[in-house]
Amino acid sequence: MKKYWLPAVMLVIFETVAVTLWLTKDNLFYLFNFSYIGLSISFGVFLFIRKHKHARRIVQLLVGLYMLIYLGLICSENMQIEGFWYYLFTGVFEAATIHYAVAKIFGPLLFGRGWCGYACWTAMVLDFLPYKVPEKPRKKIGWIRYITFAASLIFVAALFLAKAGNIERIMFLAFIAGNIIYYAVGIILAYAFKDNRAFCKYICPVTVFLKPMSYFSLLRVKCDNDKCISCGKCKTVCPMNVDMTDNSRKRANGTECILCMVCVRNCPRGAL
Ligand code: SF4
Ligand code: SF4
Ligand code: SF4
Repeated sequence: MKKYWLPAVMLVIFETVAVTLWLTKDNLFYLFNFSYIGLSISFGVFLFIRKHKHARRIVQLLVGLYMLIYLGLICSENMQIEGFWYYLFTGVFEAATIHYAVAKIFGPLLFGRGWCGYACWTAMVLDFLPYKVPEKPRKKIGWIRYITFAASLIFVAALFLAKAGNIERIMFLAFIAGNIIYYAVGIILAYAFKDNRAFCKYICPVTVFLKPMSYFSLLRVKCDNDKCISCGKCKTVCPMNVDMTDNSRKRANGTECILCMVCVRNCPRGAL
């Protein structure tokens, strides 16, 4: 049973968040929401430990579809970055601000970019495309993320400054339009750069939060240098071009790791 400590810990963490928010916000929804997400993630980690081939994809679909269809389309919650700015400006610690705090700002100190590997509904679709392993070298155009980040902030700030009526309706429409744009750009870039995760590497505004926070992540892929034979296999299969054989926090593309464990599965020496 010892090997199942990680899913158990994940479940306890999410249940703690669920119960704390339920009691402090007096809203049963938080109990349901974080319990569901915690159970999905723990189930996925459990499947991974049992070497289930599609463990990560199962979690991605369980959490991604829930957030996109239930929270986004049915409950009309904009859980994208515009929704985060919206709630931040209104000074309310609800929905998207809680989601960002847990998954994208403070959570990464613990589980890095686990969100990107196991829950994001944009990547959930992009990961179905054919270029799981990038076929071309990484490009130096990551600065685009700062433009999309600023654009999302300016868009929401402009709505408040212009005192736009029915902002909640606009935010819902922005959620639909934003997702259509993300999927379209993500799919075009994946084919253009022969890399499923090109959108994540160059465009996604959320990485402005994710990258610096995941630098300090407790959960990391580490290399046992005594076992490693420097065959390079791990680096050729990594979707994010991480140099996981370097254990320092400054390793190449270290803040890009999405904890997909593809390198771990492919290492012939079990060094990772
Ligand atoms: S980088 Fe952005 S689009 Fe890619 S998985 Fe992370 S949050 Fe989703
Ligand atoms: S695949 Fe394993 S043995 Fe090969 S370089 Fe990577 S860590 Fe070392
Ligand atoms: S292959 Fe390894 S280093 Fe690359 S993103 Fe996945 S877990 Fe991280």
